[in-house]
Amino acid sequence: MSFICVDRIPGLLDLPDPGTEFGEEACGDAAYYWPTGTALTVRFLDGPPDLRARVMAAAGAWTEHANLSLTVVDTGPADLRITFRGAGNWSALGTTSRNPRSYPADHPTMCLAEAGTAGPSRLARIARHEFGHAIGLVHEHSSPAAGIAWNRPVVLNTLAGPPNFWSMADVAVNVFDRYHTTRTQYTAFDPHSIMLYAFPPEWTLDGRTFPENVELSATDRAFAAQIYP
Ligand SMILES: [Zn+2]
Repeated sequence: MSFICVDRIPGLLDLPDPGTEFGEEACGDAAYYWPTGTALTVRFLDGPPDLRARVMAAAGAWTEHANLSLTVVDTGPADLRITFRGAGNWSALGTTSRNPRSYPADHPTMCLAEAGTAGPSRLARIARHEFGHAIGLVHEHSSPAAGIAWNRPVVLNTLAGPPNFWSMADVAVNVFDRYHTTRTQYTAFDPHSIMLYAFPPEWTLDGRTFPENVELSATDRAFAAQIYP
């Protein structure tokens, strides 16, 4: 199963296959961080200029804290290639975007399909969340420290229906599975993380619920600075 960000995706089967192996220890860790100080190039494959500008403004929240830079280029090779067309929102994880087997040249490494119709805060959330993946961060609910008591039948039933139509395996990978403790640097679960899915209280056995975070949390900021000093 490939690693893809599939936040509220309307049609998983339409997604390109990033080709990254997803296993107990395969994802979301330092193996996919960029070298500190990397000047990442970003090329938009489509979308109007004002939308591109809003995405980059939101994504800049990361580079305020991480020692990385984001430079938009109009032509030529680019580390991150963004489309607004397609299904849902997803991004390559960190340096996997440079793998031509997974992401052939001129194919997107990030899809922000919802951005064009999203309001300002939703757009900021989507852009920051997906750029978080692009710099190598994984879902906060997949943190080894998350400890969320999922109401599995409810989650499975909900995500098996529209708009996701996920299989049990899809739900396992994207919701239930957690990263191995040796392959992530999270020390504690952060309910305010931009990298957390929002979900309703029905999804947990103890009624725990999480809102749709828009800003980088204090931990997100500190973590970005820690991994990209
Ligand atoms: Zn995600």
